[in-house]
Amino acid sequence: MSIWKRTTSLSGQCSTEPFEMWESPDKSRKTFTVHATYGKPIDILSLKLDVLEDFRAQVEHVKKTRSALFSSPEIEIVQACPICNAPAEQSRFSVQIYNARYHECLSCTHRFVINRPGQRALDRFYSEDAPIASTYTDRRTSETRVKQVATPKAQWALAEFERVHGTKPERILDVGAGGGHFVYACHLLGLNADGIELSESSRDYCKRHFEIDLRAEDFLSNDLSLPEYDLITFWGVIEHVAEPVQFLNAARKHLSQHKGMVIAEVPRWECLGTAIQSQWNDSLVRHLNPMGHIHIFSDNSLATAFANASLAPAAVWYFGMDAYEWATQMSYHLDDPSVVEKIKELIPGVQQSLDSARFSDEVVLAAIP
Ligand SMILES: [Zn+2]
Repeated sequence: MSIWKRTTSLSGQCSTEPFEMWESPDKSRKTFTVHATYGKPIDILSLKLDVLEDFRAQVEHVKKTRSALFSSPEIEIVQACPICNAPAEQSRFSVQIYNARYHECLSCTHRFVINRPGQRALDRFYSEDAPIASTYTDRRTSETRVKQVATPKAQWALAEFERVHGTKPERILDVGAGGGHFVYACHLLGLNADGIELSESSRDYCKRHFEIDLRAEDFLSNDLSLPEYDLITFWGVIEHVAEPVQFLNAARKHLSQHKGMVIAEVPRWECLGTAIQSQWNDSLVRHLNPMGHIHIFSDNSLATAFANASLAPAAVWYFGMDAYEWATQMSYHLDDPSVVEKIKELIPGVQQSLDSARFSDEVVLAAIP
């Protein structure tokens, strides 16, 4: 077993001492002081309005496409934990979603889809499945996304970088930049930021909306020639790729020598969202959506992934959409669209409580070499 320990005060999450102590499981038992943030104010309903309007249609689409993908003959069985490399035969079944089987690594507690589509099936899937891209590139939600999603993340990243290094990052790289919202948010804060993105349609969108040219290279390529970056970020990226640690390793390689930081946001296993979706596993469109969340991290497996890339935890941020998920699922299963309308005022407060209790479905970790 490779289990980190987390020490916090018994007084709950107080703003006066927002630090957690994380102790590594290796022989050194090294302890890291990790600055913690609990919760992220967000107007969820204005952001995800399109999802509420046709949640039922989305469920049908996601169910049909994923069920077909994960029962196709092109499935490959994962042989080792993608984070700690323990043999997959030592993993344990957690939950099945649309024919995809999430397993738990018994060494590092990482959850991963063990029956994974092969590369050809993935390429075909991404070229045909338009709704995934449209979540991020819908013109209607673009401004809201910059203001409510990307800007708070840029502010958090900036604050943590300054806290650790005592200065602003001179150069930022966002890997898997999507439509460029985070890069644009950094520019609005006066920061020098680049993005790298493989999808041509996302790069086009970024150019049209923000007049920013994203780099088109493969971040893992050995031929990749980049300037040194102080801060490299992955917002909702490494849970989509076969080998997350390789991406963190590549990030460390491109970091500046003296004041580097790597940040990754990932879906988190220990949360209300997982509890709800494990019960209602036939009506979900996000979180335990096995395409593309082929990984769901525990805090332990996320710390292990960073440590395996020689990166030490420095700050953590817990937040999520669990309360929104609960409302949406209730609305769907009661077949009553008014449910969300009736309880929407409660959602932010309930979510803040979940975030404070570390029972939320997203986590961001910032780490340093
Ligand atoms: Zn593992």
